[in-house]
Amino acid sequence: MNTELRVINEGTAELQLPHSCPTCAGPLELRISADGVRSFCATCRSIGRPRLQQSEMGTFVLDFKDIGRA
Ligand SMILES: [Zn+2]
Repeated sequence: MNTELRVINEGTAELQLPHSCPTCAGPLELRISADGVRSFCATCRSIGRPRLQQSEMGTFVLDFKDIGRA
């Protein structure tokens, strides 16, 4: 999967992952900060706090434990 990390500032970055919404499989927007990771799907408006892990290969792995439903 190709991902593009957009660095907002020193402590915050944004990432868009296609087909990654656990609810509707739509594109998922991620905001990564020192506070953790928040995900937002513009298609079904679900908000989550997945855990994000980056492998040594530079790919991202999401772990949705408690996804919120708006
Ligand atoms: Zn969705």
